[in-house]
Amino acid sequence: MQREAARLLQTGKAIAFVPTMGYFHEGHLALMREGRKHGDALIISIFVNPTQFGPSEDFQTYPRDPDRDASLAESVGVDVVFAPEAEAMYDKAYQTYVDLEMLPQYLCGPSRPGHFRGVATVVAKLFNIVRPHVAIFGEKDYQQFVIIRRMVRDLHLDIRIIGVPIVREPDGLAMSSRNTYLSEDERRSALSLLQALQQAHKNVAQGIRDAGQLIHEASELIRSYPYTKIDYVAVCDPETLENVSRVEGPTLMALAVWVGKTRLIDNTILTIDY
Ligand code: AMP
Repeated sequence: MQREAARLLQTGKAIAFVPTMGYFHEGHLALMREGRKHGDALIISIFVNPTQFGPSEDFQTYPRDPDRDASLAESVGVDVVFAPEAEAMYDKAYQTYVDLEMLPQYLCGPSRPGHFRGVATVVAKLFNIVRPHVAIFGEKDYQQFVIIRRMVRDLHLDIRIIGVPIVREPDGLAMSSRNTYLSEDERRSALSLLQALQQAHKNVAQGIRDAGQLIHEASELIRSYPYTKIDYVAVCDPETLENVSRVEGPTLMALAVWVGKTRLIDNTILTIDY
């Protein structure tokens, strides 16, 4: 991959890059189509990164389908699929990590210790291997997106980070490789995430500004569905991810909910129209 990236750079090609863990759905393909617009060469990676999974998480069972992924990637104009082995990314003596101070402490951080350290580390490594001019990330993983953007600024990486809005199923569920874990009943309860966010939009439009009240109503709505267990519902600053007490400008509402044994996330930006 490093040789191929050097060759592309020598011929003056701009490289667009989409890192993924594979098992593609339309969300991944939207990132690739966006990438196609920004580079002469479009490179994607498929790597289920062991360092971003906790010991009791689904690293072993994470869904994988490399053949289907390769043909989907080809259908949207991907030039190179980089799918390294774990041993090539982390040898036995591996010991270097990228740690951000504040952003990983919020939202998903407390329930996934070490997750964002693994994410920032693998993305930094992939950036050094692929050497992209532009990299594309989904706003579904909003915290990941702001962490990567911050890391790129902090480390002076000369890479433009582009965010792509959440791609949803026809009924509104945010697409995720993990949706395949849901039973039919759980799949119905999974709609509570989007409904809670939509209700918050309505509440803000009706003049409710108090974060506590918005969180309370969202939580009640989610709890009214079977199989759900709330990890967090947060209303926070979209840059720093710090909680806010009132919605005054564009404000992130983010949530994580267990539906059965599957942890789902979703988010939206609440805005006030004057
Ligand atoms: P993953 O394979 O889950 O690590 O995701 C790879 C990239 O696709 C990340 O930048 C995700 O944020 C993005 N992504 C995953 N699901 C969606 C979605 N439903 N809409 C937009 N982007 C997504």
